[in-house]
Amino acid sequence: MSGLIVTIDGPSGTGKSTAARGLARKLGFLYLETGAMYRAVAQAALRGGLCLDDARPVAALARCLRFRFRRGPQGRNRLFVNGRDVTRAIRSPRISEAASRIAVIPGVRRALVARQREIGRRGRVVVEGRDAGTVVFPKAPLKIFLSASPRERARRRLAQWAGEGRRTTLAQVERQVRARDLRDSTRAASPLRVPRGAVRIDNSRLQSSEVLDILLDYVRNVGKRGESLAQ
Ligand code: C5P
Repeated sequence: MSGLIVTIDGPSGTGKSTAARGLARKLGFLYLETGAMYRAVAQAALRGGLCLDDARPVAALARCLRFRFRRGPQGRNRLFVNGRDVTRAIRSPRISEAASRIAVIPGVRRALVARQREIGRRGRVVVEGRDAGTVVFPKAPLKIFLSASPRERARRRLAQWAGEGRRTTLAQVERQVRARDLRDSTRAASPLRVPRGAVRIDNSRLQSSEVLDILLDYVRNVGKRGESLAQ
């Protein structure tokens, strides 16, 4: 397993993060959470008072930021940007919205993809995102595409938010899920697609532990094939 790169793609709310984090933890790999980097750029842009649709300054900002992932307890990552821990600050709904806006800027994507390749190139990494297997590591030996129905994804998000004391309705959350899917799959730069040669897993009816078992089986099979593991 020495140089293995595993990519996990899929739309929002499909349990990608849980699966990627769990897999990385089991394998002792780095969990490269690409979404956190887009969120961090959005947060820095808002803090700097930039207009999120103004491509050049936002892309320039993305090129300047220094990202560092540090493994925390239970495989939970901490993300440091220019030495500052932004792990919690990038989780708000405002930043989710802003991240999806700056993610359409090609210069931002170029800067972050280059950085992601640098972080992951030696392998022993689970790369999670929306373009991990299509753009960042298209030759990774194991590419996973996770999906689940919009209703199920909205249900999961609602449960998570209720736990955090936020009030909203299932219909409202489902509308947001669909709107984000549409934006992510129709944008010009790296639209969400199933990577070539990816294993597709619909987890609408699977527990996260079942998804993890399936993923571990695939990893073992890649190991057995004995092919070059990094790309
Ligand atoms: O995965 P997460 O919800 O943290 O991502 C935040 C936003 O960043 C997404 O809505 C998406 O628009 C964008 N993103 C992206 N490409 C990635 C990861 C995230 O465009 N590889």
